[in-house]
Order: sequence, then C-alpha cells, then structure tokens
Amino acid sequence: MIVACPHCQKKNRLPVDRLGESPACGVCGKPMLAGVLSLDASALSELTQKPTNAQAQAIPVMVDFWAPWCGPCLQFAPTFANAANQHGGHMVFAKVDTEAHQSVAIAHQIRSIPTLIVFHHGQSIQRVSGALAPSALAQLVAQVLEKNRT
Ligand SMILES: [Zn+2]
Repeated sequence: MIVACPHCQKKNRLPVDRLGESPACGVCGKPMLAGVLSLDASALSELTQKPTNAQAQAIPVMVDFWAPWCGPCLQFAPTFANAANQHGGHMVFAKVDTEAHQSVAIAHQIRSIPTLIVFHHGQSIQRVSGALAPSALAQLVAQVLEKNRT
C-alpha cells in the first residue's frame, strides 16, 4: 500500500505482508510504524484484508476512525500517537478520516466517533467506541498483544 510517513509525510510503498519487519521510511529512515499512519479507503482495505501469503507475519492493526470536527477525536489523538510510539513495532496504529472517506465509515458501520477497531488476519477482533483514557488504551493494546502472542 502507499502511505505517508508519519514523521516526514513523504509517501512510501509499504508491503503489507512485511509489516512485522519494522519497515523504515525510505526518505527519513525513521520507523514507519512508530507513529499513526493516515489511511485512505484503499490503504485501509489493503491493510485489513486477509493476507494472501499464509507465511506472512500479519500483525494486528488498530484503526482510529475520527473526523476533524469531532472534539473528543482531537483530544484522543495524542493518546493514540503515544501508544503508536510505544508499541508501533508490534501493532500497526492507523487512522481514517471518516469525513474524507465516508464510504469507509459506512462499510465499517461507524455510528459514533471516535471508534477504534482492531483488525487481525482480515477480521475485526475488537471494537471500542469513545475516546479512551491513556490507561484504558494501554489496557486494550496489552490485551490485543497478549491475545496474539500465540
Ligand atoms: Zn519519513
């Protein structure tokens, strides 16, 4: 998929089946996953589809569905960015602007924002609505990582 580097905003081609290998930005060299990836509709579908390669080390993807006019979303953004910074090697942290990509919001039945959905192996495995406090988000992240260790 093509996605902008969360650090320098330059577009990178990121092979979805190699996300577990700590990809670095081709321009600034920083780890692509140590930040929140901003996805459009096609990047999201590519990132959340079932991996075609059975050997692919697919790591979980946590997506923040938000919109620029949503106050709680904006409040939650730094919390989410912090989590990405801390756990970005083990999970992909991404966000989708539901205002700019309304088809995505409809496809995933987003009725309130922010909504977090965790995808793994092409399926949504967790869904939480509302801006989480840092401790609640940390708990959710820990839960997902624990579940996927096996
Ligand atoms: Zn970069």
